[in-house]
Amino acid sequence: MTKFIFITGGVVSSLGKGLTSGAVGMIFERMGLTVSMQKLDPYINVDPGTMSPFQHGEVYVTDDGSEADLDLGHYERFTHAAITRNSNFTTGKIYSEVIAKERRGDYLGRTVQVIPHITDEIKRAIRLGATSEPDVAITEIGGTVGDIESLPFLEAIRQFSLDVGRRNCLFIHLTLLPYLRTSGELKTKPSQQSVGKLREIGITPDVLVCRTEKPMTDEMRDKLSLFCNVERRAVIEERDVDYSIYEVPINLVAEGLDSLLVEFLGLPEGTKADFDSWLRLLDEIRKPQVEVEIALVGKYIELTDAYKSHYEALTHAGIATGVTVKLRKISADTLAEREADDVLHGVHGILVPGGFGERGFEGKVQAARYARERNIPYLGICYGMQAAVVEFARSVLGLAGATTTEFGDAEHPVISLLDEQQGVEEKGGTMRLGAFECELRPGSKVAEAYGCEQIAERHRHRYEFNNAYRTQLEEAGLVASGIHPTLDLVEAIELPDHPFFVGVQYHPEFKSRPLEPHPLFRDFVAAARHHAEGRATLHVKAN
Ligand code: GLN
Repeated sequence: MTKFIFITGGVVSSLGKGLTSGAVGMIFERMGLTVSMQKLDPYINVDPGTMSPFQHGEVYVTDDGSEADLDLGHYERFTHAAITRNSNFTTGKIYSEVIAKERRGDYLGRTVQVIPHITDEIKRAIRLGATSEPDVAITEIGGTVGDIESLPFLEAIRQFSLDVGRRNCLFIHLTLLPYLRTSGELKTKPSQQSVGKLREIGITPDVLVCRTEKPMTDEMRDKLSLFCNVERRAVIEERDVDYSIYEVPINLVAEGLDSLLVEFLGLPEGTKADFDSWLRLLDEIRKPQVEVEIALVGKYIELTDAYKSHYEALTHAGIATGVTVKLRKISADTLAEREADDVLHGVHGILVPGGFGERGFEGKVQAARYARERNIPYLGICYGMQAAVVEFARSVLGLAGATTTEFGDAEHPVISLLDEQQGVEEKGGTMRLGAFECELRPGSKVAEAYGCEQIAERHRHRYEFNNAYRTQLEEAGLVASGIHPTLDLVEAIELPDHPFFVGVQYHPEFKSRPLEPHPLFRDFVAAARHHAEGRATLHVKAN
Protein backbone atom coordinates (compact mmCIF):
# COMPACT_ATOMS: atom_id res chain seq x y z
CA MET A 1 0.00 0.00 0.00
CA THR A 2 1.22 3.48 -0.91
CA LYS A 3 2.57 5.67 1.87
CA PHE A 4 1.89 9.39 1.55
CA ILE A 5 4.34 12.14 2.45
CA PHE A 6 3.21 15.77 2.67
CA ILE A 7 5.78 18.53 2.68
CA THR A 8 4.78 21.98 3.86
CA GLY A 9 6.83 25.15 4.27
CA GLY A 10 6.88 27.80 6.92
CA VAL A 11 8.19 31.29 7.74
CA VAL A 12 9.21 32.44 4.23
CA SER A 13 8.86 31.36 0.62
CA SER A 14 11.84 30.30 -1.53
CA LEU A 15 13.09 27.97 1.20
CA GLY A 16 14.04 25.28 -1.27
CA LYS A 17 11.00 23.13 -0.61
CA GLY A 18 11.09 21.71 -4.13
CA LEU A 19 14.68 20.71 -3.71
CA THR A 20 14.05 19.16 -0.30
CA SER A 21 11.05 17.28 -1.67
CA GLY A 22 13.16 15.99 -4.56
CA ALA A 23 15.86 14.96 -2.08
CA VAL A 24 13.30 13.06 0.02
CA GLY A 25 12.13 11.30 -3.14
CA MET A 26 15.68 10.39 -3.96
CA ILE A 27 16.26 8.90 -0.50
CA PHE A 28 13.30 6.57 -1.03
CA GLU A 29 14.39 5.60 -4.56
CA ARG A 30 17.82 4.79 -3.27
CA MET A 31 16.18 2.43 -0.79
CA GLY A 32 14.87 0.59 -3.83
CA LEU A 33 11.33 1.97 -3.53
CA THR A 34 9.20 3.57 -6.24
CA VAL A 35 7.99 7.13 -5.76
CA SER A 36 5.60 9.62 -7.29
CA MET A 37 6.12 13.36 -6.90
CA GLN A 38 3.50 16.10 -6.93
CA LYS A 39 3.19 19.81 -6.26
CA LEU A 40 -0.01 21.57 -5.17
CA ASP A 41 0.12 25.31 -5.82
CA PRO A 42 -2.31 27.63 -4.01
CA TYR A 43 -2.41 30.37 -6.66
CA ILE A 44 -5.48 30.88 -8.85
CA ASN A 45 -3.87 30.65 -12.30
CA VAL A 46 -4.87 27.31 -13.83
CA ASP A 47 -1.22 26.69 -14.64
CA PRO A 48 1.91 28.85 -14.75
CA GLY A 49 1.97 28.74 -18.59
CA THR A 50 0.72 32.29 -18.98
CA MET A 51 2.66 33.77 -16.06
CA SER A 52 5.56 36.18 -16.61
CA PRO A 53 9.05 34.95 -15.76
CA PHE A 54 9.18 37.88 -13.31
CA GLN A 55 6.34 36.25 -11.39
CA HIS A 56 7.14 32.64 -11.67
CA GLY A 57 10.51 31.71 -13.17
CA GLU A 58 10.77 28.92 -15.69
CA VAL A 59 7.67 27.12 -16.94
CA TYR A 60 8.29 23.40 -16.85
CA VAL A 61 6.77 21.12 -19.49
CA THR A 62 5.75 17.50 -18.96
CA ASP A 63 5.82 14.74 -21.57
CA ASP A 64 2.03 14.72 -21.71
CA GLY A 65 1.97 18.41 -22.55
CA SER A 66 1.11 20.30 -19.40
CA GLU A 67 2.80 23.54 -18.39
CA ALA A 68 3.86 23.25 -14.81
CA ASP A 69 5.79 24.55 -11.85
CA LEU A 70 9.57 24.50 -12.05
CA ASP A 71 9.80 22.37 -8.90
CA LEU A 72 8.81 19.47 -11.16
CA GLY A 73 12.23 19.96 -12.70
CA HIS A 74 13.85 19.27 -9.32
CA TYR A 75 11.71 16.14 -9.03
CA GLU A 76 12.85 14.87 -12.43
CA ARG A 77 16.49 15.67 -11.72
CA PHE A 78 16.42 13.93 -8.34
CA THR A 79 14.13 10.98 -9.00
CA HIS A 80 12.76 8.81 -11.78
CA ALA A 81 9.14 9.46 -10.82
CA ALA A 82 6.84 9.72 -13.83
CA ILE A 83 6.00 13.42 -14.11
CA THR A 84 2.66 14.08 -15.80
CA ARG A 85 -0.19 16.59 -15.79
CA ASN A 86 -1.25 15.00 -12.50
CA SER A 87 2.01 16.08 -10.91
CA ASN A 88 0.89 19.70 -10.53
CA PHE A 89 -2.46 21.12 -9.42
CA THR A 90 -3.25 24.74 -8.67
CA THR A 91 -6.22 26.31 -6.92
CA GLY A 92 -7.32 27.40 -10.40
CA LYS A 93 -7.25 23.85 -11.74
CA ILE A 94 -9.12 22.51 -8.69
CA TYR A 95 -11.81 25.21 -8.85
CA SER A 96 -12.22 24.82 -12.63
CA GLU A 97 -12.98 21.15 -12.08
CA VAL A 98 -15.45 21.82 -9.24
CA ILE A 99 -17.22 24.57 -11.20
CA ALA A 100 -17.46 22.30 -14.27
CA LYS A 101 -19.04 19.59 -12.09
CA GLU A 102 -21.46 22.09 -10.61
CA ARG A 103 -22.49 23.26 -14.11
CA ARG A 104 -23.02 19.64 -15.16
CA GLY A 105 -25.29 19.16 -12.18
CA ASP A 106 -23.04 16.57 -10.54
CA TYR A 107 -23.70 17.97 -7.06
CA LEU A 108 -27.43 17.25 -7.33
CA GLY A 109 -28.64 20.59 -6.05
CA ARG A 110 -26.39 20.80 -3.01
CA THR A 111 -24.64 24.01 -1.98
CA VAL A 112 -21.07 23.75 -3.25
CA GLN A 113 -18.55 24.68 -0.56
CA VAL A 114 -14.83 24.74 0.21
CA ILE A 115 -15.37 21.88 2.64
CA PRO A 116 -16.18 19.25 1.43
CA HIS A 117 -16.26 19.98 -2.32
CA ILE A 118 -12.97 21.79 -2.86
CA THR A 119 -11.18 19.63 -0.30
CA ASP A 120 -12.62 16.47 -1.93
CA GLU A 121 -11.30 17.65 -5.28
CA ILE A 122 -7.86 18.26 -3.73
CA LYS A 123 -7.91 14.78 -2.25
CA ARG A 124 -8.84 13.39 -5.66
CA ALA A 125 -5.88 15.28 -7.13
CA ILE A 126 -3.57 13.73 -4.54
CA ARG A 127 -4.81 10.28 -5.50
CA LEU A 128 -4.41 11.07 -9.20
CA GLY A 129 -0.79 11.94 -8.45
CA ALA A 130 -0.36 8.43 -7.11
CA THR A 131 -2.13 6.49 -9.88
CA SER A 132 1.04 4.53 -10.61
CA GLU A 133 0.59 3.03 -7.12
CA PRO A 134 4.10 3.84 -6.01
CA ASP A 135 5.53 2.70 -2.69
CA VAL A 136 5.72 6.34 -1.64
CA ALA A 137 3.71 9.30 -2.97
CA ILE A 138 5.24 12.67 -2.15
CA THR A 139 3.13 15.81 -2.30
CA GLU A 140 4.62 19.25 -1.77
CA ILE A 141 2.25 22.04 -0.77
CA GLY A 142 3.33 25.32 -2.36
CA GLY A 143 3.17 28.62 -0.52
CA THR A 144 3.78 29.24 3.15
CA VAL A 145 1.75 27.94 6.07
CA GLY A 146 -0.35 30.84 7.33
CA ASP A 147 -1.28 32.10 3.86
CA ILE A 148 -5.03 32.39 3.38
CA GLU A 149 -4.87 30.58 0.04
CA SER A 150 -3.05 27.53 1.43
CA LEU A 151 -5.83 26.73 3.88
CA PRO A 152 -7.98 24.41 1.72
CA PHE A 153 -4.88 22.40 0.81
CA LEU A 154 -3.81 22.01 4.43
CA GLU A 155 -7.33 21.07 5.43
CA ALA A 156 -7.41 18.51 2.60
CA ILE A 157 -4.15 16.83 3.62
CA ARG A 158 -5.32 16.68 7.22
CA GLN A 159 -8.48 14.89 6.09
CA PHE A 160 -6.46 12.71 3.76
CA SER A 161 -4.32 11.45 6.63
CA LEU A 162 -7.50 10.31 8.38
CA ASP A 163 -8.79 8.64 5.21
CA VAL A 164 -5.68 6.55 4.63
CA GLY A 165 -4.76 6.10 8.28
CA ARG A 166 -2.30 8.21 10.17
CA ARG A 167 0.38 5.50 9.99
CA ASN A 168 0.36 5.62 6.21
CA CYS A 169 1.10 9.32 6.16
CA LEU A 170 3.96 11.52 7.16
CA PHE A 171 4.05 15.29 7.51
CA ILE A 172 7.35 17.03 6.95
CA HIS A 173 7.52 20.75 7.66
CA LEU A 174 10.38 22.77 6.24
CA THR A 175 11.15 25.90 8.17
CA LEU A 176 13.74 28.65 8.47
CA LEU A 177 15.92 29.52 11.44
CA PRO A 178 16.89 33.11 10.73
CA TYR A 179 20.35 34.14 11.88
CA LEU A 180 20.62 37.49 13.63
CA ARG A 181 24.06 38.82 12.93
CA THR A 182 23.96 41.47 15.65
CA SER A 183 23.33 38.96 18.41
CA GLY A 184 25.09 36.10 16.62
CA GLU A 185 22.08 33.82 17.16
CA LEU A 186 19.77 31.58 15.24
CA LYS A 187 16.16 32.19 16.19
CA THR A 188 13.49 29.51 16.62
CA LYS A 189 10.42 31.67 17.26
CA PRO A 190 9.24 31.99 13.63
CA SER A 191 9.38 28.18 13.34
CA GLN A 192 7.44 27.75 16.57
CA GLN A 193 4.78 30.08 15.24
CA SER A 194 4.57 28.44 11.87
CA VAL A 195 4.19 24.99 13.43
CA GLY A 196 1.61 26.57 15.74
CA LYS A 197 -0.37 27.59 12.65
CA LEU A 198 -0.20 24.04 11.32
CA ARG A 199 -1.34 22.60 14.63
CA GLU A 200 -4.34 24.95 14.65
CA ILE A 201 -5.47 23.18 11.49
CA GLY A 202 -4.87 19.82 13.10
CA ILE A 203 -1.56 18.86 11.56
CA THR A 204 1.41 18.09 13.77
CA PRO A 205 4.54 17.61 11.73
CA ASP A 206 6.34 14.31 12.20
CA VAL A 207 9.60 15.77 10.96
CA LEU A 208 10.82 19.34 11.17
CA VAL A 209 13.50 20.20 8.63
CA CYS A 210 15.27 23.43 9.57
CA ARG A 211 16.95 25.55 6.93
CA THR A 212 19.84 27.38 8.53
CA GLU A 213 23.10 29.05 7.59
CA LYS A 214 24.80 28.12 10.91
CA PRO A 215 24.87 24.82 12.79
CA MET A 216 22.07 24.33 15.30
CA THR A 217 22.95 23.85 18.95
CA ASP A 218 21.60 21.02 21.13
CA GLU A 219 19.54 23.54 23.09
CA MET A 220 17.87 24.73 19.94
CA ARG A 221 16.92 21.19 18.99
CA ASP A 222 15.48 20.72 22.49
CA LYS A 223 13.53 23.92 22.24
CA LEU A 224 12.14 23.23 18.78
CA SER A 225 11.16 19.73 19.83
CA LEU A 226 9.37 21.01 22.94
CA PHE A 227 7.56 23.96 21.39
CA CYS A 228 6.71 22.32 18.08
CA ASN A 229 5.70 18.95 19.56
CA VAL A 230 8.13 17.10 17.29
CA GLU A 231 10.36 14.29 18.56
CA ARG A 232 13.86 15.55 19.34
CA ARG A 233 15.51 13.21 16.82
CA ALA A 234 13.05 14.34 14.15
CA VAL A 235 14.35 17.90 14.29
CA ILE A 236 16.62 17.82 11.25
CA GLU A 237 19.13 20.43 10.24
CA GLU A 238 19.37 21.42 6.57
CA ARG A 239 22.35 23.75 6.42
CA ASP A 240 23.13 25.92 3.38
CA VAL A 241 25.26 23.86 1.01
CA ASP A 242 28.90 24.71 0.31
CA TYR A 243 29.25 24.07 -3.38
CA SER A 244 26.32 22.22 -4.90
CA ILE A 245 22.60 21.71 -4.35
CA TYR A 246 23.30 18.04 -5.01
CA GLU A 247 24.70 17.83 -1.48
CA VAL A 248 21.21 18.26 -0.02
CA PRO A 249 20.14 14.57 -0.06
CA ILE A 250 23.45 13.46 1.47
CA ASN A 251 23.24 16.09 4.19
CA LEU A 252 19.72 14.99 5.10
CA VAL A 253 20.90 11.39 5.32
CA ALA A 254 23.82 12.49 7.51
CA GLU A 255 21.20 13.98 9.85
CA GLY A 256 19.45 10.59 10.03
CA LEU A 257 16.41 11.40 7.91
CA ASP A 258 16.60 8.06 6.07
CA SER A 259 16.29 5.92 9.21
CA LEU A 260 13.52 8.16 10.57
CA LEU A 261 11.53 7.67 7.36
CA VAL A 262 11.99 3.91 7.56
CA GLU A 263 10.87 3.81 11.17
CA PHE A 264 7.98 6.27 10.95
CA LEU A 265 6.49 4.62 7.86
CA GLY A 266 7.02 1.12 9.19
CA LEU A 267 9.25 0.10 6.26
CA PRO A 268 11.19 -3.16 6.70
CA GLU A 269 13.84 -2.77 9.36
CA GLY A 270 17.37 -2.35 8.05
CA THR A 271 16.20 -0.65 4.81
CA LYS A 272 19.14 1.50 3.74
CA ALA A 273 19.59 4.09 1.03
CA ASP A 274 22.48 3.39 -1.33
CA PHE A 275 24.19 6.66 -2.20
CA ASP A 276 27.42 5.29 -3.69
CA SER A 277 26.98 6.62 -7.22
CA TRP A 278 25.74 9.94 -5.85
CA LEU A 279 28.79 10.29 -3.59
CA ARG A 280 31.02 9.64 -6.60
CA LEU A 281 29.16 12.38 -8.46
CA LEU A 282 29.80 14.81 -5.59
CA ASP A 283 33.50 13.86 -5.69
CA GLU A 284 33.56 14.72 -9.39
CA ILE A 285 31.95 18.08 -8.71
CA ARG A 286 34.53 18.85 -6.03
CA LYS A 287 37.53 18.06 -8.24
CA PRO A 288 39.21 21.01 -9.90
CA GLN A 289 38.11 21.15 -13.53
CA VAL A 290 38.96 23.00 -16.70
CA GLU A 291 36.98 26.22 -16.76
CA VAL A 292 34.95 26.88 -19.87
CA GLU A 293 33.00 30.08 -20.35
CA ILE A 294 29.56 29.82 -21.89
CA ALA A 295 27.46 32.83 -22.82
CA LEU A 296 23.77 32.53 -22.14
CA VAL A 297 21.94 35.12 -24.21
CA GLY A 298 18.46 35.64 -22.83
CA LYS A 299 15.84 38.17 -21.89
CA TYR A 300 15.62 37.37 -18.20
CA ILE A 301 19.23 36.82 -17.15
CA GLU A 302 18.77 38.79 -13.93
CA LEU A 303 16.23 36.26 -12.63
CA THR A 304 17.81 33.17 -11.07
CA ASP A 305 14.85 30.94 -11.85
CA ALA A 306 14.05 31.96 -15.43
CA TYR A 307 16.51 29.53 -17.05
CA LYS A 308 16.72 27.07 -14.17
CA SER A 309 16.81 23.85 -16.21
CA HIS A 310 19.37 25.30 -18.65
CA TYR A 311 21.75 26.09 -15.79
CA GLU A 312 21.25 22.64 -14.34
CA ALA A 313 21.75 20.93 -17.70
CA LEU A 314 25.00 22.86 -18.20
CA THR A 315 26.20 21.73 -14.78
CA HIS A 316 25.41 18.10 -15.62
CA ALA A 317 27.21 18.42 -18.95
CA GLY A 318 30.18 19.95 -17.15
CA ILE A 319 30.37 17.01 -14.74
CA ALA A 320 30.33 14.59 -17.69
CA THR A 321 33.02 16.42 -19.64
CA GLY A 322 35.34 17.40 -16.78
CA VAL A 323 34.49 21.06 -17.07
CA THR A 324 33.39 23.78 -14.70
CA VAL A 325 30.98 25.91 -16.65
CA LYS A 326 31.46 29.59 -16.01
CA LEU A 327 28.42 31.51 -17.19
CA ARG A 328 28.51 34.87 -18.88
CA LYS A 329 24.89 35.98 -18.72
CA ILE A 330 24.17 38.40 -21.52
CA SER A 331 21.00 40.38 -21.92
CA ALA A 332 19.68 39.83 -25.44
CA ASP A 333 18.60 43.50 -25.51
CA THR A 334 22.15 44.69 -24.88
CA LEU A 335 23.44 42.52 -27.66
CA ALA A 336 20.99 44.02 -30.12
CA GLU A 337 22.40 47.48 -29.39
CA ARG A 338 26.12 46.75 -29.15
CA GLU A 339 28.84 45.17 -31.22
CA ALA A 340 28.62 41.44 -30.65
CA ASP A 341 32.35 41.22 -30.10
CA ASP A 342 32.16 43.70 -27.20
CA VAL A 343 29.97 41.39 -25.20
CA LEU A 344 30.81 37.95 -26.56
CA HIS A 345 34.55 38.22 -26.95
CA GLY A 346 36.41 35.24 -25.51
CA VAL A 347 33.44 32.97 -24.78
CA HIS A 348 33.89 29.29 -25.62
CA GLY A 349 30.26 28.50 -26.34
CA ILE A 350 26.98 30.35 -26.85
CA LEU A 351 23.65 29.09 -25.57
CA VAL A 352 20.47 30.83 -26.68
CA PRO A 353 17.47 29.60 -24.71
CA GLY A 354 13.79 29.84 -25.55
CA GLY A 355 11.77 33.02 -25.36
CA PHE A 356 8.79 34.94 -26.59
CA GLY A 357 8.08 38.28 -28.22
CA GLU A 358 10.04 40.92 -30.05
CA ARG A 359 12.24 42.18 -27.24
CA GLY A 360 15.66 40.60 -27.43
CA PHE A 361 15.05 38.65 -30.63
CA GLU A 362 17.53 40.66 -32.72
CA GLY A 363 20.15 40.17 -29.99
CA LYS A 364 19.64 36.43 -30.26
CA VAL A 365 20.10 36.67 -34.03
CA GLN A 366 23.36 38.56 -33.41
CA ALA A 367 24.53 35.83 -31.04
CA ALA A 368 23.81 33.14 -33.64
CA ARG A 369 25.71 35.11 -36.25
CA TYR A 370 28.72 35.62 -34.01
CA ALA A 371 28.83 31.89 -33.21
CA ARG A 372 28.44 30.86 -36.85
CA GLU A 373 31.04 33.24 -38.23
CA ARG A 374 33.61 32.60 -35.52
CA ASN A 375 33.19 28.85 -35.28
CA ILE A 376 32.11 29.10 -31.65
CA PRO A 377 29.96 26.18 -30.43
CA TYR A 378 26.30 27.18 -30.48
CA LEU A 379 23.25 25.56 -28.98
CA GLY A 380 19.98 27.26 -29.83
CA ILE A 381 16.90 26.09 -28.01
CA CYS A 382 13.44 26.83 -29.41
CA TYR A 383 13.61 30.62 -29.98
CA GLY A 384 17.38 30.09 -30.10
CA MET A 385 16.94 27.72 -33.04
CA GLN A 386 14.48 30.08 -34.71
CA ALA A 387 16.99 32.96 -34.34
CA ALA A 388 19.68 30.79 -35.93
CA VAL A 389 17.45 29.99 -38.93
CA VAL A 390 16.59 33.68 -39.35
CA GLU A 391 20.26 34.61 -39.16
CA PHE A 392 21.27 31.99 -41.72
CA ALA A 393 18.52 33.06 -44.12
CA ARG A 394 19.59 36.68 -43.84
CA SER A 395 23.36 36.28 -43.97
CA VAL A 396 23.89 33.23 -46.14
CA LEU A 397 20.81 33.24 -48.39
CA GLY A 398 20.84 37.03 -48.53
CA LEU A 399 17.16 37.30 -47.56
CA ALA A 400 17.41 40.56 -45.63
CA GLY A 401 13.68 40.50 -44.84
CA ALA A 402 13.82 37.07 -43.19
CA THR A 403 12.32 36.85 -39.70
CA THR A 404 9.65 35.15 -37.63
CA THR A 405 6.02 36.16 -37.94
CA GLU A 406 5.70 36.16 -34.15
CA PHE A 407 5.61 39.95 -33.96
CA GLY A 408 4.28 41.00 -37.34
CA ASP A 409 4.22 40.18 -41.03
CA ALA A 410 7.50 39.24 -42.62
CA GLU A 411 8.81 39.63 -46.13
CA HIS A 412 10.44 36.22 -45.73
CA PRO A 413 8.62 34.33 -42.98
CA VAL A 414 11.25 31.62 -42.43
CA ILE A 415 9.62 30.96 -39.05
CA SER A 416 5.84 31.03 -39.14
CA LEU A 417 2.60 29.74 -37.67
CA LEU A 418 1.27 26.32 -38.57
CA ASP A 419 -2.22 26.33 -40.04
CA GLU A 420 -3.62 24.72 -36.90
CA GLN A 421 -2.33 27.64 -34.82
CA GLN A 422 -3.95 30.27 -37.07
CA GLY A 423 -6.90 31.79 -35.30
CA VAL A 424 -6.02 30.44 -31.86
CA GLU A 425 -7.04 33.24 -29.52
CA GLU A 426 -6.82 31.69 -26.08
CA LYS A 427 -3.40 31.89 -24.49
CA GLY A 428 -3.58 29.16 -21.85
CA GLY A 429 -2.34 25.70 -22.85
CA THR A 430 -2.72 26.25 -26.59
CA MET A 431 0.88 26.02 -27.78
CA ARG A 432 2.46 22.93 -29.30
CA LEU A 433 3.11 21.24 -25.99
CA GLY A 434 4.66 18.05 -24.69
CA ALA A 435 6.65 15.20 -26.16
CA PHE A 436 6.83 14.67 -29.92
CA GLU A 437 8.76 12.06 -31.83
CA CYS A 438 11.63 13.10 -33.99
CA GLU A 439 13.77 11.25 -36.52
CA LEU A 440 17.39 12.22 -36.67
CA ARG A 441 19.38 12.26 -39.87
CA PRO A 442 21.95 9.45 -39.88
CA GLY A 443 25.49 10.75 -39.45
CA SER A 444 24.36 14.18 -38.21
CA LYS A 445 25.78 15.76 -35.04
CA VAL A 446 22.49 15.31 -33.27
CA ALA A 447 22.26 11.61 -34.18
CA GLU A 448 25.84 11.18 -33.04
CA ALA A 449 25.08 12.89 -29.73
CA TYR A 450 22.00 10.78 -28.96
CA GLY A 451 23.60 7.61 -30.31
CA CYS A 452 20.29 6.75 -32.03
CA GLU A 453 17.95 8.07 -34.68
CA GLN A 454 14.56 7.98 -32.97
CA ILE A 455 13.99 10.35 -30.11
CA ALA A 456 11.12 12.08 -28.34
CA GLU A 457 11.55 15.53 -26.82
CA ARG A 458 9.30 18.14 -25.24
CA HIS A 459 8.00 21.18 -27.03
CA ARG A 460 6.54 24.51 -25.98
CA HIS A 461 6.12 26.95 -28.83
CA ARG A 462 3.67 28.25 -31.39
CA TYR A 463 5.89 29.03 -34.36
CA GLU A 464 7.76 26.58 -36.62
CA PHE A 465 10.45 26.34 -39.22
CA ASN A 466 8.66 27.25 -42.47
CA ASN A 467 9.01 24.35 -44.92
CA ALA A 468 8.52 26.74 -47.86
CA TYR A 469 12.14 27.80 -47.28
CA ARG A 470 13.54 24.37 -46.51
CA THR A 471 15.05 23.51 -49.92
CA GLN A 472 16.62 26.94 -50.26
CA LEU A 473 18.11 26.78 -46.77
CA GLU A 474 19.36 23.22 -47.25
CA GLU A 475 20.98 24.06 -50.57
CA ALA A 476 22.83 26.87 -48.84
CA GLY A 477 24.26 24.43 -46.30
CA LEU A 478 21.85 24.35 -43.37
CA VAL A 479 20.97 20.75 -42.54
CA ALA A 480 17.53 19.88 -41.23
CA SER A 481 18.82 17.07 -39.02
CA GLY A 482 15.68 16.28 -37.02
CA ILE A 483 12.23 15.84 -38.56
CA HIS A 484 8.87 14.90 -37.10
CA PRO A 485 8.09 11.62 -38.88
CA THR A 486 4.48 12.31 -39.85
CA LEU A 487 4.00 16.07 -39.51
CA ASP A 488 7.21 16.72 -41.51
CA LEU A 489 8.21 19.52 -39.14
CA VAL A 490 11.86 20.53 -38.81
CA GLU A 491 12.77 19.89 -35.18
CA ALA A 492 16.57 20.24 -35.38
CA ILE A 493 19.02 22.04 -37.61
CA GLU A 494 22.81 22.09 -37.79
CA LEU A 495 25.72 23.34 -39.82
CA PRO A 496 27.95 20.47 -40.91
CA ASP A 497 31.10 22.52 -41.52
CA HIS A 498 31.00 24.19 -38.11
CA PRO A 499 32.53 22.53 -35.02
CA PHE A 500 29.13 22.50 -33.25
CA PHE A 501 26.21 24.59 -34.40
CA VAL A 502 22.93 22.98 -33.42
CA GLY A 503 19.45 24.38 -33.04
CA VAL A 504 16.51 22.42 -31.69
CA GLN A 505 12.85 23.36 -31.73
CA TYR A 506 12.32 21.37 -28.56
CA HIS A 507 13.54 21.70 -24.97
CA PRO A 508 16.33 19.23 -24.14
CA GLU A 509 17.07 21.02 -20.84
CA PHE A 510 14.06 19.41 -19.16
CA LYS A 511 15.41 15.91 -19.50
CA SER A 512 18.94 16.32 -18.16
CA ARG A 513 19.89 14.65 -14.89
CA PRO A 514 23.06 14.88 -12.82
CA LEU A 515 23.98 11.27 -13.55
CA GLU A 516 22.38 11.22 -17.01
CA PRO A 517 23.37 14.49 -18.69
CA HIS A 518 21.46 15.40 -21.81
CA PRO A 519 23.51 14.34 -24.87
CA LEU A 520 23.14 17.68 -26.66
CA PHE A 521 24.26 19.70 -23.66
CA ARG A 522 27.08 17.22 -23.08
CA ASP A 523 28.37 17.50 -26.66
CA PHE A 524 27.88 21.26 -26.70
CA VAL A 525 29.99 21.66 -23.55
CA ALA A 526 32.56 19.18 -24.90
CA ALA A 527 32.80 21.27 -28.07
CA ALA A 528 33.16 24.41 -25.94
CA ARG A 529 35.96 22.73 -24.04
CA HIS A 530 37.62 21.82 -27.30
CA HIS A 531 37.22 25.38 -28.48
CA ALA A 532 38.78 26.73 -25.28
CA GLU A 533 41.73 24.40 -25.64
CA GLY A 534 42.35 25.23 -29.30
CA ARG A 535 41.82 28.95 -29.20
CA ALA A 536 45.34 29.72 -30.37
CA THR A 537 44.44 28.36 -33.82
CA LEU A 538 41.02 30.00 -33.93
CA HIS A 539 39.95 30.49 -37.47
CA VAL A 540 37.87 33.58 -38.10
CA LYS A 541 35.52 32.84 -40.91
CA ALA A 542 34.49 35.86 -42.91
CA ASN A 543 31.15 35.87 -44.61
N1 GLN B 1 8.34 32.25 -29.27
C1 GLN B 1 8.65 31.07 -30.01
C2 GLN B 1 7.41 30.31 -30.40
O1 GLN B 1 6.37 30.47 -29.79
C3 GLN B 1 9.61 30.17 -29.26
C4 GLN B 1 9.06 29.64 -27.99
C5 GLN B 1 10.11 29.12 -27.06
O2 GLN B 1 11.29 29.46 -27.21
N2 GLN B 1 9.75 28.33 -26.07
O3 GLN B 1 7.44 29.53 -31.32
